[in-house]
Order: sequence, then C-alpha cells, then structure tokens
Amino acid sequence: MPFDVTILGSSSATPTLTRRHSSQVLRFGDEKFLIDCGEGTQNRCMEYGINFQKISHIFISHLHGDHFLGLFGMINTMNLLSRKKPLTIYTTQGLKNLLDLHYSTCNLVLHFDVEVIEIIPDFQIVYESATIKVTAMPLEHRIPCIGWLFEEKRGERKLNYEQCKKLGIPFKAFASIKNGADFKTDNGTLFPNEELTFEPRETLRYAYITDTLVQPQLKKQISGVNLLYHEATFLHNLESRAHETFHSTGKEAAIFAAQAKVGRLIVGHFSSRYKDLEAHIEECRSQFPNSDVAIEGSVFPIK
Ligand SMILES: [Zn+2]
Ligand SMILES: [Zn+2]
Repeated sequence: MPFDVTILGSSSATPTLTRRHSSQVLRFGDEKFLIDCGEGTQNRCMEYGINFQKISHIFISHLHGDHFLGLFGMINTMNLLSRKKPLTIYTTQGLKNLLDLHYSTCNLVLHFDVEVIEIIPDFQIVYESATIKVTAMPLEHRIPCIGWLFEEKRGERKLNYEQCKKLGIPFKAFASIKNGADFKTDNGTLFPNEELTFEPRETLRYAYITDTLVQPQLKKQISGVNLLYHEATFLHNLESRAHETFHSTGKEAAIFAAQAKVGRLIVGHFSSRYKDLEAHIEECRSQFPNSDVAIEGSVFPIK
C-alpha cells in the first residue's frame, strides 16, 4: 500500500523562482491528505499529476498566508469542476470567517460541503479512520500553530495456517482465531492466540512540524517516526534571527531528529535568502546523517 509524501512547496514567507509556499500531499493507500495549502497549490498538483478533487481532508498548520492562501483558489476550482465530495479542513481559529467572507463577497455558491474544524492547539486526535489517525500537536510560533502526526493504525494479527493445520485446529475455528480468540481442544488443551497467529507488522508514522521554535518536549510523541518533516527556515549562524521570528535552524531540527530517533529527516520552509540548499544539507547531516531537503516535486516514502 503506498504511503508517501510529495513536496509541493518548500519556501518560507517569500517564494522564489524555484521554491513555492508550503504544501504537501500525503498519500496513504487510496486516500490523499493535503498538508498546508500555500498560494499556487492547485497548480503544483496539476504539475505533479495529483488530482486534488480526490482530497477530502486538508490540514493547515496555521493562518500565516504562506500556509493557506491557496485554499481560496483551490476551493473555487473544485466548485467550477462540479465537485460534490465534501471537504474537511482542520486548522486553528479564524479560517471559517475568512472563507465565509470570501464566499459572500464573491457571491460564490458552493455545490459541495466545506467543513472547517477549528482547533485550539493541544494534543488531540482530530481525524480517525479504520486505518489511520491524525493527532494535532501544539507548536510555538507568533500565532497559534499546529503540527500533525499521521499514524497508521495497528493491523490485525494474521492467521498462521501452517501452525493451525499442524495442531489439527478445525477450519471453523479460524475466523474467531483471526479475531483474537484462543483455541481450546475437546480435551481442554489451550492454545493461546499468539501461538496461532503472526504479529502484525510495525505501523508507519509521519510527522509534519513547521513554523515553530524547536520543541524538544515533542520528542516523546514523535519518537521513532519513520519520517519527520521539520522546518529549517534558517541556517544556525542566524540562530538569533530564527528565534526572534519563532523559527528553527537546520542544526536544531537535526539535533531534535536525532534525539527523537526518527528514521529520516526532511527539512523545508527555507528563507528566500538561500539560493541553494547545500549548506542546509551539510548542517543537518553533521548532526543527523539521514537528512534531506524538501524540494518541489520530490517524493519521500514513509517506510
Ligand atoms: Zn511559514
Ligand atoms: Zn508562520
């Protein structure tokens, strides 16, 4: 089952000729989640062959323009393309008013439901299906800001057919064993479920953390995630500028990744002052070797 993230934008507040405002698409099986929606996100989706009509859930970190201004155009286009599928947007407080003002000012009549769920940043599960859950994590920025943790749910144990056959367990008992039951023979011998089934594989996890001072207290929540996206707006020689503006440096992001024992780090939300990202790669890898930079169009598997 595919589980990966495509980078649509990796610039901080001022875009450049090659880097756009924050946005990513997380693909999980047949589901696609949009994370942040900077200006031009719909164009990036078209460029990378992503059908945004298939997106049902959008997670916006905070209401600075570089993270949400693309919503207005994208919702407009969805409507023009006769969308019927409902859309749910999760974000901090204030977006609903902005969207309502947009609809009323432009006399825009939507043919599909847009639900905005405004969250006070805190640890809470905000979305859950049979296979994945999304948890909000409070960040520290100039305005309320949320990080998102996407966690695959633990799969079911798989029946060990060979073992069951060897022990002479009747076929009719297989369904209840699959559902977690032990098996007792007629003479009273008990076979615990763990002996008759295989462990489900480890679940996969992705964390998205942007526009924040580095948050060492989140280590516990994101410990061991397979992939962490963390902002690195500045290099560490501009540490004080980073802190004044409530951002992080590459070195800080990489130390945090190492401490949280994540599988892989990708950094993004780069200041437009950086023409190329070689120094970011070097700075991050010096602290955490499995680091990369988020570049538009790149796809990172979560594995
Ligand atoms: Zn930003
Ligand atoms: Zn911001």
